[in-house]
Amino acid sequence: MTAQPEPGADRSGDSYLPAHGNGGYRVRHYDLDLEYRPVANRLSGTARITAVATQPLSAFTLDFTDYKLSRVQVSGTNARYTHRGHKLRVKPARSIAEGAEFTVEVRYAGNPEPLSSPEWGDVGWDELTEGALVASQPIGAPTWFPCNDHPADKATYRLALKVPAPYTVVATGGLVDRRRSASTVRWVFERAEPTAPYLVSVQIGYYDDVDLGGARLFVPTRLRENALVDFGRQPDMRTALEGWFGPYPFGDYAVVVTDDELDDPIEAQGMAVFGAGHVDGRRTHERLVVHEFAHQWFGNSLTVADWRHIWLNEGFATYAEWLWSESSGGESADTLARRWRGAPAQQGSGPRIADPGISEMFSERVYKGGALTLHALRGELGDDTFFALLRDWTSTHRHSTVTTAEFTALAARHAGRSLDRFFTAWLDSDVLPR
Ligand SMILES: [Zn+2]
Repeated sequence: MTAQPEPGADRSGDSYLPAHGNGGYRVRHYDLDLEYRPVANRLSGTARITAVATQPLSAFTLDFTDYKLSRVQVSGTNARYTHRGHKLRVKPARSIAEGAEFTVEVRYAGNPEPLSSPEWGDVGWDELTEGALVASQPIGAPTWFPCNDHPADKATYRLALKVPAPYTVVATGGLVDRRRSASTVRWVFERAEPTAPYLVSVQIGYYDDVDLGGARLFVPTRLRENALVDFGRQPDMRTALEGWFGPYPFGDYAVVVTDDELDDPIEAQGMAVFGAGHVDGRRTHERLVVHEFAHQWFGNSLTVADWRHIWLNEGFATYAEWLWSESSGGESADTLARRWRGAPAQQGSGPRIADPGISEMFSERVYKGGALTLHALRGELGDDTFFALLRDWTSTHRHSTVTTAEFTALAARHAGRSLDRFFTAWLDSDVLPR
């Protein structure tokens, strides 16, 4: 387990986003029963949240954007609430004792729209030309359901979503029910593995459902043929990644290609989402296919306990690109490492990999610099020890949360010696080692 900050009741204490996420409780389960009408862009329904108080609570908060609320109940009794500044503050009729389990039920309706930020662009629920998508990293989850939006508060999910009949819904979790009534279909998904709110996703569109062998591809018909080439090596990729990182941590894996262009692909739990522009029938963007797949181990199963540790997601997913290149007949990891070490983003002083700051969370120094750190570590330890370390890392912290200190401690244990100087030079310095 990872030590959690014990913040005040309306703060998560995250080092980068302290006011995002909430304290005083941990969520066990989200049960979302929703309806979406794409033409009107209208989302409505009920969220039932089961949580446990980690301190006595006379009030608590949830992250939630601008919806009209018609009822808020705590453990079956109407509660007083205020809702402003994307915080839903709930005051239950009776205080909740430390350690007590309670439920929060929020009934709501509104027009979902993404959150815009200078650092990350639009995140959360967003309309497509036909349908909708959810891409929440790092703060978009409250655009469609009330939640404790912190990566370390992982919970299980049940999501029921009713949409007009012709649409396909792909969502986080396995499909457990699909029922048609008149002109709508209600899709029900369940996710038993602990999942961070930012990794819960919904994709609504006109999609063909194709078996890729160990994964499913959801793709518009017009892109199907090309996508079968671009994602054709998915089964080989799985074999390769399992060899390096241990067993795939979830049951299912869905690859979604939207009919619209997307700037960047995005990972979700058991899912990766690509835009139409990432498909060309020539595997041009295969490095992104392996990158998003690697996030299932690094980010989704092992989730950062605090956003400061983001290199544990992005550095590892980037290194998976280099490993895949090497093993699939492309350039070697060493060639790629030497090239990226020489790239402008890695010269001179820059953000520290292990603490890049909020505006540099998704910078090249974190992605490529993080991968360079791993490549240097591989050189330091040798292949056998390095890959044993990675498999130990993913199995020890499977479906849990992680910090940089936990990784460096485990690496030192595998090395049988202190790696403090090595990691300080790579992770905690403004300038990268040669
Ligand atoms: Zn990534």
